[in-house]
Amino acid sequence: MIVVMKNNATKEEVEKVTGDLVAKKMQVQVNDGVECTVLGVLGDTYTIDKETFSMMPGVERVVSVQEPYKKANRKFHPDNTVIQAGNVKIGGGNLVVMAGPCSVESKAQLMGIARDVFAAGAGILRGGAFKPRTSPYAFQGLGENGIDILHEVSRETGLPVVTEIMSPKHVALFDEKADIIQVGARNMQNFDLLKELGETKKPILLKRGLSNTIEEWLMSAEYIISSGNENVILCERGIRTFETYTRNTLDISAIPAVKKLSHLPIVVDPSHAAGMYDMVESLSLAAVAAGADGLMIEVHNDPKHALCDGPQSLTPKAFTQLMEKVNLLERAMNQRSAI
Ligand code: PEP
Ligand code: MN
Repeated sequence: MIVVMKNNATKEEVEKVTGDLVAKKMQVQVNDGVECTVLGVLGDTYTIDKETFSMMPGVERVVSVQEPYKKANRKFHPDNTVIQAGNVKIGGGNLVVMAGPCSVESKAQLMGIARDVFAAGAGILRGGAFKPRTSPYAFQGLGENGIDILHEVSRETGLPVVTEIMSPKHVALFDEKADIIQVGARNMQNFDLLKELGETKKPILLKRGLSNTIEEWLMSAEYIISSGNENVILCERGIRTFETYTRNTLDISAIPAVKKLSHLPIVVDPSHAAGMYDMVESLSLAAVAAGADGLMIEVHNDPKHALCDGPQSLTPKAFTQLMEKVNLLERAMNQRSAI
């Protein structure tokens, strides 16, 4: 961190700022320039309230030279994090596909889809029980009943399940019955929820918020990790831009950006990005080519009659075809990196 003093700052003002920083266990290098004094601050500057220092008499501005997240930062954790969910590893070169319906509608529906996606090569079953719908009149999900169905189907098929939580009051229930807890785009900055999830050891799939920057997303991961849970998987699901043709704009560049900035695995959800089933395959392949650690794809046995997100859902047949291409691409990429 750097503190730039005003060019008319007095010696006492410089000493006061320096003294307050030293009291917070920082090392301060005082550089007296021709125009002004610049303080180089070393130490655990994450704990310093920059706004307070920027308001002190004689201070022109405070500049951070490091990212504001530490535990999610690759600088402090160079190796890729690998997360275990049931019998599946996420991150560190394992490409994992999570697939299933937007919403759990019945046990028969979920069981049928689970068998189909498993046969096609999916490693994890997705399904929403508590649904964050824009309209209060739309299907809200089966709630606790849906969680029980997911749990039963998981036990009967051996597939780990990922499902979305909306309220901190459900953390214990999800901790018991889900293998991965999803924080949806709308709750990415629900800090009370993030802190509660940080007190579990469960893998958390943290979706990027509707209009959030990569830094804000990593700060949300930091909330979970700094509360005690290191098992965070990031999920890029498209962001809101001026373009309205697709439901959202898939930010492919987020994949290499996150890989550079963080050690956490990143998966891509092309379904909520595109909003249209016929774009899901192209976006999936682009995500794998860009280095994603996995995909999350909506699959429905009867998309036309789905209770939620039918237009973006693949049929099991289309999903099977997509998986063939994903596997081919992955093999080609592995051969390339072996050369
Ligand atoms: C979902 O995965 O069903 C969902 C609601 O996703 P998002 O939070 O990305 O909109
Ligand atoms: Mn959905």
